[in-house]
Amino acid sequence: MLAVVPPPVTVRAPAKVNLHLAVGDVRPDGFHELVTVFQALSLTDDVVVAPADTLAVTVRGEGASSVPLDHRNLVWQAAELLAAETGREAAVAISLAKGIPVAGGMAGGSADAAATLVALCALWRLELSRDELGVLAARLGSDVPFALHGGTAMGTGRGEQLLPVLARNTFHWVLALAPEGLSTPAVYGELDRLRAGGDPPRVGDVQPLMHALTAGDPIALAPLLANDLQAAALSLRPALRRTLRAGTTAGALAGIVSGSGPTCAFLCADADAAVRVGAELAGAGVCRTVRVASGPTPGARVVPGGVET
Ligand code: ATP
Repeated sequence: MLAVVPPPVTVRAPAKVNLHLAVGDVRPDGFHELVTVFQALSLTDDVVVAPADTLAVTVRGEGASSVPLDHRNLVWQAAELLAAETGREAAVAISLAKGIPVAGGMAGGSADAAATLVALCALWRLELSRDELGVLAARLGSDVPFALHGGTAMGTGRGEQLLPVLARNTFHWVLALAPEGLSTPAVYGELDRLRAGGDPPRVGDVQPLMHALTAGDPIALAPLLANDLQAAALSLRPALRRTLRAGTTAGALAGIVSGSGPTCAFLCADADAAVRVGAELAGAGVCRTVRVASGPTPGARVVPGGVET
């Protein structure tokens, strides 16, 4: 009898922006203690998995040439981890279509890893719960559980311990993508250096931001956006100051460096304002390209019927 080869599975996973990112001290394991509020955005990567003879990764789209195609890729690690945990061979072809900027502070690699876990569960017909997947996700990286979860959530620990946050309304964002990425460890290292040489201000209490999210009010939310990594990202990439200024001059309510940067995220009053800010920012010569996005959006999800390639 002929074995039936299952059809490819496509999963879409979101980028994140940190609305609040408080970086605590370095822990004995080398990670910093975080209190963060993530929001998943409508800027996404698509991951397609299909049965194959061996594990192989291909990438196209945003920043594809700087994405590794071997064990350094988080999707490779996700496939090997899930295969080992379920006693299978990781014999799959994984194709990534990147919309999330690489090394952009938007956790694109983590989104791809979360998408791979979800896609392989469907391809291999595994009966893993979201909680069991969450545990595997946390082993792959601090931001991977959130990419599974999506929505708006508070992260503590390394950012991997999640609690959902009630966010009324859709928020509208403009993202300014930089010509070159920033290394996350280098940005944390710069923050440690800045803190060793003085005591730069730290972001405050997260509660007021939670209230603004519950109220669904972008005007109340805007002044509360805060990121401890921003000073370090600006220190390594001073040109980002101009980008941040240009966004607010263009009419955004507020601008912030996304995670470890260099992507800058601008909160806008509504969808029309985001389109106007995006157009003006695109013409201001302060970034490589702009994207208009909204959030919160769901975490990694199967796309029924796949996507056109
Ligand atoms: P982090 O999640 O560490 O904060 P980031 O969001 O700034 O990082 P990513 O796009 O996730 O940036 O990638 C960081 C680095 O990880 C890249 O420079 C790349 O070498 C490597 N990488 C591994 N897997 C992937 C992937 N699937 N997509 C993009 N980059 C990947």
